[in-house]
Amino acid sequence: MVSYKELGLVNTREMFAKAINGGYAIPAFNFNNMEQLQAIVQAAAETKSPVILQVSKGARNYANQTLLRYMAQGAVEYAKELGWENPQIVLHLDHGDSFETCKSCIEFGFSSVMIDGSHLPYDENVALTRKVVDYAHQYDVTVEGELGVLAGVEDEVSSDHHTYTRPEEVVDFVTKTGCDSLAISIGTSHGAYKFKPEQCHKDPETGRLVPPPLAFDVLDGVMKELPGFPIVLHGSSSVPQEEVDVINAYGGQLEAAIGIPEDQLRKAAKSAVCKINIDSDSRLAMTAAVRKVLAEKKGEFDPRKYLGPARDNMKKLYIHKIINVLGSDGKA
Ligand SMILES: [Zn+2]
Repeated sequence: MVSYKELGLVNTREMFAKAINGGYAIPAFNFNNMEQLQAIVQAAAETKSPVILQVSKGARNYANQTLLRYMAQGAVEYAKELGWENPQIVLHLDHGDSFETCKSCIEFGFSSVMIDGSHLPYDENVALTRKVVDYAHQYDVTVEGELGVLAGVEDEVSSDHHTYTRPEEVVDFVTKTGCDSLAISIGTSHGAYKFKPEQCHKDPETGRLVPPPLAFDVLDGVMKELPGFPIVLHGSSSVPQEEVDVINAYGGQLEAAIGIPEDQLRKAAKSAVCKINIDSDSRLAMTAAVRKVLAEKKGEFDPRKYLGPARDNMKKLYIHKIINVLGSDGKA
């Protein structure tokens, strides 16, 4: 058993309380490799933003969970080296699919876990989440539960339709499970293809497709039922068109990739939404930079020459999100 406290990590409790009161949201960025982690830590340290490092099941399979944990520990030390005296860094399990997975992460030094029972019948979701909370709270690890189903594909999590969270269920769920935060479904979705073109309308000025707005009435309903309770939004990438354009200009084929407009997320961040998950945007930023270098410099074979620009492009994206979308800069 390794306590996250020994690794210099923090849980989400105080971070979320401050975010709700301050009207901003904490970035939750997924990571799978060193360049991505460097970019996240540099961005957070430079902007003094609290940050949640997320590890999905896919990342654990890809990078190895032992390595990821030591990378997170390294991230804390690296942040200090960058001049961030008291780094506020959470290591969070994204979409934990069983009690055993959550338990193993908690024993491994994670400071926060998500148990995703949203696909289960309501009572089973309650029972599973309760079981994880009972275990996690013994070690002061915070737990995110989920009600409602998001559409889209993220690693092994996928659904072809979404079901909005029902505000009339949230008080019962939070009371019975004791979870510390709640992921809800209000129209965000996983992946880079969040909407079909026929669901969107065309902006007459830019010619870009504009997706339907998020269901803020559902969010308002949840906040009315659970005043001051931390709410989480998954699937909140914006799919920056300029990155998609670079990818497509250099041989990619991402047609009709559409995300959540940033003004919608900005509005959510000012409310009880205090954790916003962003993964696809960083994948796009990385891929765009790699494609551009390899297309322009056909003799290049030093990975540092294309992963370096990829890291810089991700860092730029993270700083933009922190300052212009979440408003979490200067809060740590
Ligand atoms: Zn998710």
